[in-house]
Amino acid sequence: MQSSTVPAKESVAELLARARAARDASALAEGRDLAQRAWALSAQGGTTEDERCEAGHLLCLFHYRMGSLEALLDLGQQVVPVLKAPDRRSAKADLLRWMALAGCETGRFETALHCANDACAVSQDLGDQRQLALSLTALGACFERMGDPWQAERLMEDALLVAKEIGDPFAQLVTLNNLCAVCIGAYYVLRGGDVPAEATAALRRALGHARAAHSLLSNFGDPFFSVFVEGNLGEVLLHLGKLDDARHYLDAALQRGLEHGYGAQVWRIRCSICELMLAQGQARESHAALTALLHDMQGGDPRSTLIRVQYALYRTCKDLGWDADALEHFEAHDRLDRRRQTNQLKAQSQLFVTRVEAEQSRLQAERARLEAQIERSRAASFQADAQRDQLTGLGNRRHLDHRLPMLLEVAREQKLPLTVALVDLDHFKQINDRFGHAVGDKVLVEMAHKLRENTRTSDVLARIGGEEFLVVFADMSPEQAFEVCERLRLRVEEHHWHTLAVGLSVTLSVGLSHAPPYELATLFEEADKAMYRAKQGGRNRVALASPK
Ligand code: GH3
Ligand code: MG
Ligand code: MG
Repeated sequence: MQSSTVPAKESVAELLARARAARDASALAEGRDLAQRAWALSAQGGTTEDERCEAGHLLCLFHYRMGSLEALLDLGQQVVPVLKAPDRRSAKADLLRWMALAGCETGRFETALHCANDACAVSQDLGDQRQLALSLTALGACFERMGDPWQAERLMEDALLVAKEIGDPFAQLVTLNNLCAVCIGAYYVLRGGDVPAEATAALRRALGHARAAHSLLSNFGDPFFSVFVEGNLGEVLLHLGKLDDARHYLDAALQRGLEHGYGAQVWRIRCSICELMLAQGQARESHAALTALLHDMQGGDPRSTLIRVQYALYRTCKDLGWDADALEHFEAHDRLDRRRQTNQLKAQSQLFVTRVEAEQSRLQAERARLEAQIERSRAASFQADAQRDQLTGLGNRRHLDHRLPMLLEVAREQKLPLTVALVDLDHFKQINDRFGHAVGDKVLVEMAHKLRENTRTSDVLARIGGEEFLVVFADMSPEQAFEVCERLRLRVEEHHWHTLAVGLSVTLSVGLSHAPPYELATLFEEADKAMYRAKQGGRNRVALASPK
């Protein structure tokens, strides 16, 4: 064998180890290439699911940090479905959050809102307050970009509360950064208007958030956050007229940002520096730097910076007495700004729906806080493994015994409906007898998939017996749950079971019951009765508990 002349075959594990090291060293371009190779290689099979998941997650992170937002959104669509196992929910929440931020930065609001709401739901399901705070912040960012900084501030204030409650400096830092950006955005909208006090108030709030964020920086070694925080702080100080202080932070941020290749951040900071030069009377230098910046941004993603750059160019040209150029940039700015406004209006026309969704996320956050309190007050601590069913990865009976009373309590507290579905496979004994126990097991695993696919991430799923499952739909009416279960029933009936074993077909029956009344025993009894009726009625059907 001429092994010395044949290039060694790369292994995904090795590429991932190097990509991880590049991430930790903030060597983004290198890391992206490594993760890209790992992702491509993992698509060819022969790797573990863990590796495929990590490759996708890492590559998305690199795209995000480098400001390759369109690339992130495209890739994200492929990676999200890969991160389907329960123990990847945290990675999934991360990714959905990045996609939400990328979506609103590139004007893809529908995608952005969808991802942000999903991120909230996944965090909720995970019971992870830190992820919840971060997801609420991302949802707030969507509203900011859709032209509603007020709703954005509300959501982010909530997020900050959650982050403070759990004493998580990272979540606080991220939320403060975003709050700061929202306030700066509000300032851009308000400045030059007829209520200068409001504009100044927005800047003051921005300054408070930026300073609070800055004081947290020492907890983190990651230069990404320094660049973010110093960039924000510099931008605020600039608009407050504190030019020397602004310069100090902007220069530091720029140097670090360039060093690590944070594309989108660097553009923003360079734009601030140009505005600073203009404020210091260096119109010519400012014009040259802005022209170079505009050139470098060709084909770049972040439209909000582009709008700012055109506006700054207009102002410098005006200062220099170059009226024709000034007009040209003014018109370019106007075009971009109008496009932004049109996009926002379009997005706002769906706002009735989305605002309701955002409110739901806020309510859910409250509920999660309540749950966390109840949980804390319970002395018993539960082992995740002890609550998981080995075969399907769903929760087991113990998990349900733990979760359901809690959910019921919260539903009672908030006077919300709660529906449970008892799901039982039809004639499963015959399936075992005819096709063997191993096929029976595979059917159960596939059932778990079907359950996950056809429910929300916030619904609680448990395998409570051999071929019996229970779904808890918190905050869902029996009628809505009925529809969900009908869809599940159909999907199971239509599944190509013959690929598991020739001649195999599988159906299921569902019994639904609901609260109020918020009584555990009644819920189970009623669901049992409904199940009995479904079976008696000929199986392969969904039955509602009879009205009480
Ligand atoms: P029905 O339509 O009335 O629900 O009939 P059924 O046959 O599905 O119900 P029954 O309760 O009589 O049978 C359930 C069967 O599930 C019996 C048991 O052998 C099988 N079972 C229980 N746990 C497992 C498991 O982990 N793997 C497999 N393959 N089978 C299991
Ligand atoms: Mg049964
Ligand atoms: Mg059965």
